[in-house]
Amino acid sequence: TTPFDPASVRGDFPLLGVEVGGEPLVYLDSAATSQRPRAVLDAERAFLETVNSAVHRGAHTLAAEATELFEGARETVAGFVGAPPEQLVWTSGATAGLNLVAYSLGNAAAGRTVPGHAAPGHPDAAGPWVPGPGDEIVVTEAEHHANLVPWLELAARTGASVKAVPVRDDGTLDLEAAASLLSTRTAVLAFSHVSNVLGVVNPVEQLVALAREATGGRALVVLDACQSAPHLPLDLPALGVDVAVFSGHKVLGPNGVGALYGRAEVLEALPPFLLGGSMITTVTLEGAEYLPPPQRFEAGTQPVSQAVALAAAVDYQRALTDRVGATALLEHERALERRLREGLRGMPGVRLLGDAGEGVERVALQAFEVDGVHAHDVGQLLDARGVAVRVGHHCAQPLHRRFGMTASVRASAALYTSSDDVDVFLDALSGVRAYFGVA
Ligand code: PMP
Repeated sequence: TTPFDPASVRGDFPLLGVEVGGEPLVYLDSAATSQRPRAVLDAERAFLETVNSAVHRGAHTLAAEATELFEGARETVAGFVGAPPEQLVWTSGATAGLNLVAYSLGNAAAGRTVPGHAAPGHPDAAGPWVPGPGDEIVVTEAEHHANLVPWLELAARTGASVKAVPVRDDGTLDLEAAASLLSTRTAVLAFSHVSNVLGVVNPVEQLVALAREATGGRALVVLDACQSAPHLPLDLPALGVDVAVFSGHKVLGPNGVGALYGRAEVLEALPPFLLGGSMITTVTLEGAEYLPPPQRFEAGTQPVSQAVALAAAVDYQRALTDRVGATALLEHERALERRLREGLRGMPGVRLLGDAGEGVERVALQAFEVDGVHAHDVGQLLDARGVAVRVGHHCAQPLHRRFGMTASVRASAALYTSSDDVDVFLDALSGVRAYFGVA
């Protein structure tokens, strides 16, 4: 295959051309938010300038056109993760998606069911996955707070407890510990496909199989696909998870939109979280009946222009894949990952988080600390060279605590990242310890 040259797409991303403090921007913070190609910016603007109206209810022409584009976007974004459109729920982002699941389960635990959808053998509950007193919710030590705090809250509300699968020194999950943590008391297993700090690709299918076996098919398996969706082709039904979430702004799309994928059976059985307009069939002063999924989970006015623009992001990526080949894109990803990790590994005083050896799949995202220099100081010095990285705990405090740190620096790439970006970053970083007098 012909190698993919990111120079061929950089012109598509207006923001990559800016300067910061007189230096050309070297954007290595795509794991926090990715930049958007002009096609995405244009799609949102065109929608707003020519079609914008409320979907699903207007009797006028524009409302019908907007609805068609909105539902077409659902089809496109569902296709991006291998799912049929009726199994894709729009959310405002991954955080909203994870809260949706946790609060739905909380509502189910409080006895709320969808009429006609109580799970077989569980006449009083939405499904076997509804937690109760003494039950357990299993997460991992590496979770983003968005995939931890909602579960802590759900546990507090239901009398369940949260257990965490430990992360090994190399950033991989301790699967033996996972096997012993999972049991018929496990109502939920929630984990990230790729941690936003470690960059290691977790073995989803293996964890799903473990969960199915050890919990006797009980646990709801929830996948946080925020950091895999930007880097790997996804087929969520094939992975076998029950629910998965991701955010638009990390996959070349806009803010304010994301998606939740759910297995049909799960979406059918879960009671809604947000309640209000657009999710009902009949309302009286005594009660309401709800629409089937996905609308049951889409109360209120939806992020329509953002959904349309997210579909444009998917189309952009698909067209690029068709042009250069999926293999070339994956090779580019791997080359960036290797250059980043090996460059950092060779640097004195730099300690990597998730330094998994060969044979462990990773994405081009690497967190590290610099001996004797605070992460914020590293970030500032890099910024003076135009290099944008993320510093802090990256919304993963338990993971940093596990590695004996309070903060780290994270460099992360996207398909538009070049090896020159990585080299400028490594060069700037190499002077950091000397600058602070610790080398
Ligand atoms: N999970 C992971 C792994 C993430 O990286 C992020 C974003 N940093 C989130 C969840 C939350 O995504 P959002 O802020 O877009 O809701």
